[in-house]
Amino acid sequence: MLPISKPALASAGITGTWRVYRPVIKLEKCIDCGLCWLYCPESVIEWERGQKIQIDYTYCKGCGICANVCPVKAIDMVPEVV
Ligand code: SF4
Ligand code: SF4
Repeated sequence: MLPISKPALASAGITGTWRVYRPVIKLEKCIDCGLCWLYCPESVIEWERGQKIQIDYTYCKGCGICANVCPVKAIDMVPEVV
């Protein structure tokens, strides 16, 4: 069996107080590929084929990796309102 590791949920802790940008998914553009779910280092994207994709903003750190890997640019990084 291959040793497979995956990141623990939200290793950055609760981020709601310090995140600067938040990812917002344009669902009408999403092609349901799951790449954002696969690459999110915090495992905070809930995705299952055919289901509505969601982000847990309590633990998302706003790194933007999901937006960068999305092949159809369906994720915008939007400044947090302070
Ligand atoms: S910005 Fe995207 S990739 Fe980064 S933690 Fe949040 S959901 Fe995950
Ligand atoms: S990477 Fe983009 S197209 Fe793929 S599931 Fe995520 S938001 Fe949708």
